[in-house]
Amino acid sequence: MAVRYELIKTCRQSGARLGRLHTPHGTVDTPVFMPVGTLATVKTMSPEELKEMGSGIILANTYHLFLRPGHEVVREAGGLHSFMNWDRAILTDSGGFQVFSLSDLRKITEEGVSFRSHLSGEPLFLSPEKSMEVQNALGADIIMAFDECPPYPAERDYVKASTERTYRWLKRCVKAHGRKEDQALFGIIQGGMHRDLREESARQITSVDLPGYAIGGLSVGEPKEMMYEALEWTTPLMPEDKPRYLMGVGSPDALVEGVIRGVDMFDCVLPTRIARNGTTMTSQGRVVVRNAKYARDFSPLDPECDCYTCRNYSRAYLRHLIKSDETFGLRLTTYHNLYFLLKLKEQVRRAIKEDRLLDFRDRFFEQYYGSTEPTRNF
Ligand SMILES: [Zn+2]
Repeated sequence: MAVRYELIKTCRQSGARLGRLHTPHGTVDTPVFMPVGTLATVKTMSPEELKEMGSGIILANTYHLFLRPGHEVVREAGGLHSFMNWDRAILTDSGGFQVFSLSDLRKITEEGVSFRSHLSGEPLFLSPEKSMEVQNALGADIIMAFDECPPYPAERDYVKASTERTYRWLKRCVKAHGRKEDQALFGIIQGGMHRDLREESARQITSVDLPGYAIGGLSVGEPKEMMYEALEWTTPLMPEDKPRYLMGVGSPDALVEGVIRGVDMFDCVLPTRIARNGTTMTSQGRVVVRNAKYARDFSPLDPECDCYTCRNYSRAYLRHLIKSDETFGLRLTTYHNLYFLLKLKEQVRRAIKEDRLLDFRDRFFEQYYGSTEPTRNF
């Protein structure tokens, strides 16, 4: 198998998993946060900076790369690793989620999805076979099955039909996947917020022997307690010896709560997207550095952080750069936010190792959110 998961231990206090993900491009300690590099770049960061902050795996988006520059260009470049000069692990999504959330005039049939490019209006088509063809050309270490992610809220009948289609589409993906020896295909469990549909989907998807499984269709607008509940229904039905990936989740609280519920891998655009708007995550909670109150604050962004940004620059300087639309400001806040989440995961792994993740959670939430209440914003 292209990717192998090694379970090292579970936390005696929380049940969380400590593990390692062995990929053709290096080994990654789990639980892990994967920065998102939509267009084969984590916006404003160089691969050297990502390595320096300790990132071993990043994500790229199939839909965006299919539209631009096109998967054939990436194939000719020798695949994503060589195209973007990143020699560590990469995961690509299937394009399904973006087709549903970004494109215009989409039409879903059993065959696949017809849609118009959100850039050019050009009519395009993605199906399980096409998604595999594109992801095989991109060449990531981990590729995702083409699924249908129902919105929230959605009618039960619709969720049921789309969840069943996701299973049929997974079987077509397995058949069409042309690089099984060096690319690991993960299946995606759907089922919306309905317990029986989630459980049925978990049984169906994990009945297909794959190197890993993901939980999709969460963090799509539902309350956080509902997401945690859906995780509690789902992860006990997933095999212990395979990695579990919760798609599109990256707020500090969910990164900890997800691990407590048995998840190993996470990705989200949140830290990089809010950074470019001047919002940062710090050990004292959220700091909106563009606010006027930081105009003469010459202290570091986060006094407890030892990242490049916090070691060298003040809140006042960051505010000035962001207010002036200076690219360097976006780079500094992005660097810090990614570093913060990667460090958070490191602390989570240490707490699992020492069987004290629940204690860590309470202390971290108290410091970050000023409370241990279960529902928070980032
Ligand atoms: Zn920092």
